[in-house]
Amino acid sequence: MAAAPSSLASSHLSPIAAVSTPAVPHQLRIGCSRRRAQRIVAMAGSGKFFVGGNWKCNGTKDSISKLVSELNAATLETDVDVVVAPPFIYIDQVKNSLTGRIEVSAQNVWIGKGGAYTGEISAEQLVDIGCQWVILGHSERRHIIGENDEFIGKKAAYALSQNVKVIACIGELLEEREAGKTFDVCFRQMKAFADSISNWADVVIAYEPVWAIGTGKVATPEQAQEVHAAVRNWLKTNISPDVASSTRIIYGGSVNAANCAELAKKEDIDGFLVGGASLKGPDFATIINSVTAKKVAA
Ligand code: PEP
Repeated sequence: MAAAPSSLASSHLSPIAAVSTPAVPHQLRIGCSRRRAQRIVAMAGSGKFFVGGNWKCNGTKDSISKLVSELNAATLETDVDVVVAPPFIYIDQVKNSLTGRIEVSAQNVWIGKGGAYTGEISAEQLVDIGCQWVILGHSERRHIIGENDEFIGKKAAYALSQNVKVIACIGELLEEREAGKTFDVCFRQMKAFADSISNWADVVIAYEPVWAIGTGKVATPEQAQEVHAAVRNWLKTNISPDVASSTRIIYGGSVNAANCAELAKKEDIDGFLVGGASLKGPDFATIINSVTAKKVAA
């Protein structure tokens, strides 16, 4: 695992590290047979492990065909929800060739009903081609394209109203972390989603520290856990204990086949949103199967 910058040591957040994890089950029985039972261990939430692959603006018809073949051939643990997000123009190709075991997401959606909005894609159109998910609030859209909290929250509300499920991204910039504002930023972004969302059943939260995205500087498991626990506690305080327990909080930022297992062991990490490593089928399969790091034989 690449070391996080020294300035990002987890002690940086120590004044707020005492945020308590909600009183939800730490051991959840997920399946059993007569001979052997498996339990999810170290899991503060009750939701199913979730792994998303964000392909960003990558791929060609040929490279995507190869990636889909690799994913179709992979052996994947059953107790994981898996979603991939191709560029818009390849969603139909992926839908028509990828195993139904893996669901498909868009990387963006228009804020409301379609119409005279040049270059945009509406939630109705995603539904029309069988695309069940959308990633919203990704740092590249916040910080490169310039989308703000309110705009993102409204997009989430409209997508959910059309039965498109939302991967809602939050996360701080390096300078915000170094200024001790990590929790302020994440909670502000959470509030913007909460102001627009009334039903959290179809929402997965992705905590993606911006300094870790595409940089190879993965957060340490402790750094990620600290923010995940705080976000879950925020949900408990501001929404409800049930939503805090059932909502998946996944980590994103330089996750790869080598570092995923250590991250997965953390009790508030319910899965991953993966960029670069999701473009390699076998690596993405390894990340999906890191759910096994949470399990022990009973
Ligand atoms: C992402 O784009 O959501 C992401 C986490 O990218 P990477 O895994 O490449 O850091």
